[in-house]
Amino acid sequence: MDFEKLAESISTYHPDPDLDKVKKAYEFAKESHKNQKRKSGEPYFLHLFETSLLVCKLRLDISSVIAGLLHDTVEDCDIDYKTIEDKFGPDVAHIVEGVTNLKKIQFSSKEEKQAESFRKMLVAMSKDIRVILVKLCDRLHNMRTLNHLPDEKKIRKALETKEIYAPIANRLGIDWLKSELEDLCLLNLRPELFHRIKSKFEQSDEDRKKFVKDTCEEIVKLLESSGVSASVKGRGKHLYSIWQKMEKNNLAFEEVHDALGFRIIVPTIRSCYEVLGIVHAAWKPVPGRFKDYVAMPKANMYQSLHTTVIGPGGNRIEIQIRTPEMNRIANEGIAAHWRYKEGEGTKGFDLKWVSELVENQQYLRNPEEFIQSVKGELFPDDVFVFTPKGDLIRLPNGSCPVDFAYSIHTDVGNRTTAAKVNGLIVSLNHVLENGDTVEIVTRKDQKPSKDWLTYVKSSKAKQRIRVFLRSAQKERAQEIGSEIISKDLKKIKLSLSKLEKSGEMQKAASKMGYQSFVDLYCDLSYGKITSAKVISLLQPNETDVEKRLKSKPSPLQRIFQTAARATRKKVGVKVSGLDDIVVRFANCCEPLPGDRIVGFITRGRGVTIHHVDCAHILSADPLRIVNVHWDDEIKSSRKIKLNVHSHDKIGILANLSTKLLEHGLNVKSAEISTTDFGKALISFEIEIEDAKQLNKVTRSIEGIPDVIKVERIKYLNKKKES
Ligand code: MN
Repeated sequence: MDFEKLAESISTYHPDPDLDKVKKAYEFAKESHKNQKRKSGEPYFLHLFETSLLVCKLRLDISSVIAGLLHDTVEDCDIDYKTIEDKFGPDVAHIVEGVTNLKKIQFSSKEEKQAESFRKMLVAMSKDIRVILVKLCDRLHNMRTLNHLPDEKKIRKALETKEIYAPIANRLGIDWLKSELEDLCLLNLRPELFHRIKSKFEQSDEDRKKFVKDTCEEIVKLLESSGVSASVKGRGKHLYSIWQKMEKNNLAFEEVHDALGFRIIVPTIRSCYEVLGIVHAAWKPVPGRFKDYVAMPKANMYQSLHTTVIGPGGNRIEIQIRTPEMNRIANEGIAAHWRYKEGEGTKGFDLKWVSELVENQQYLRNPEEFIQSVKGELFPDDVFVFTPKGDLIRLPNGSCPVDFAYSIHTDVGNRTTAAKVNGLIVSLNHVLENGDTVEIVTRKDQKPSKDWLTYVKSSKAKQRIRVFLRSAQKERAQEIGSEIISKDLKKIKLSLSKLEKSGEMQKAASKMGYQSFVDLYCDLSYGKITSAKVISLLQPNETDVEKRLKSKPSPLQRIFQTAARATRKKVGVKVSGLDDIVVRFANCCEPLPGDRIVGFITRGRGVTIHHVDCAHILSADPLRIVNVHWDDEIKSSRKIKLNVHSHDKIGILANLSTKLLEHGLNVKSAEISTTDFGKALISFEIEIEDAKQLNKVTRSIEGIPDVIKVERIKYLNKKKES
């Protein structure tokens, strides 16, 4: 805990440090915590000293180093913000305050609380990244010294670190910090396992060292023979990542072959690819393991070429190829980018993903959503695709063309009608792959669909679709509401538009506590208020408005009243969220059990079930579409009509009947007609259980000689859903 040690550490990277100021903080912290001890019995100041040394390792500015020394004074020594500000300036005070606030965050398993905690953390990060970096140093030292704490507390800290702090370190690209945090998590969460892996790793130490040395030499020789000089290093992976490999692939320690990695460092990007070529020519690459993070850097700025080859002696080895600069970024991440002028340390650093998350979280009402989008950012696993012009777009793994469209522009997203991937039309939920070229077809009158929410992955797309759906829903409610009151006003010879223009409608709305009469219309449509009530405010002298209006329920109210009245018909379909609702099958597409279906809320007639691909449903109001699914418990059969086109040959009808009997089907009615061109058309009705059975029957009829084609006839009811 010698000040000289700290001073030396700062001087290794800082050209002109104000060591007097640091010394002052060192003494101040030592004095403030002088009577406090850690659980281990050591003076508390040790923790502060070690934390500030770690801050130096991140090569942060003097304010951050001082904040490292003072980060617990506000909480533990009753020293206030003002005192720190007076003594060490606002910059230091501000960081200390930030770290103190983070400490108050309780990470609990309750989703809502967790979301709130994440939110606070992100806000802190977007304001000043130094806060989170000092916090990470504080946490690393605490994790190193957990052993004196009771088990329960150990586990809680380790879980929190695994869930939040290690991913943040990873997202910021600080590899050494992330790896150490992860190993410490494993040590505290699964101590036995940790020691088992560690001892196995150490047992094989001699062999491994020899293997590493030999392989390095061999790589160097190989490269030299091609005229490339490079520095080659071998290293063991950190225990946590070995454990992850074991878990993920269900392997024993001995089976984790690529526990060894080799790093080849060459001066230029060009030579990286050159080396890759040489390595692949000498040793067989393992398919699917080559990754080009040079052309497509990871979200945390990591760059390198990765490949796995069957190396010397048939051993699988993982090889990373990079330049010295890439290597620096790989180890230090965000910290590799500081410029070391006081006060300029973190400015101009782009933490766009943090500020975007903070900015966008207002759209996310559901805490679970928010956690998902934060986790999506913290555990980046990206897919890279191209625009038709060749621009590279980064999207979360599993993204679809809709995600792509929203990443281009909200308007593009909102108007997406179709998409092409590598020139071929794909469905909108098509999963994009690395290197795909994506083209979006838009149409002016297209609108986002609720379905999109079931498959988009990026938080941006989710938020924008939600915003659109909400505003559309509101707009429709307003329309309906104004229709309701307009009709009622007409009955007593009043005009809605006049009342709106004269400001009387606004007056009535204000009286009822609405900011605008538009909001009043909304509530009218949902039946939260009645038009009689509104009219009584507009026309205080009019008595018995209610009777005169004989107020009718609003269309939306009617839907739900009908639903409530209806007894559940056993049709074998469940509407999600609604138990007692009238369900009927749409005449236009007549879905069969087993078909993919959706429900459409009609005005006053319950829910109609359509085939998902039904043209009526594709053009219907997306806000009235509800999820439905077949109720497997109810077996029902449906009458359907089939048309069989065939050559007009004797016996065709007999053949057909036999085939149907084989399937145990009873023909209800049959009609045969012949054409002048020697063709026949047979129409008949049968009872079918589900789509699968229909498929079988159709295929088997098609197998009859002379049959040209079989088609199912739907009662072509052209009426559109309304
Ligand atoms: Mn601390």
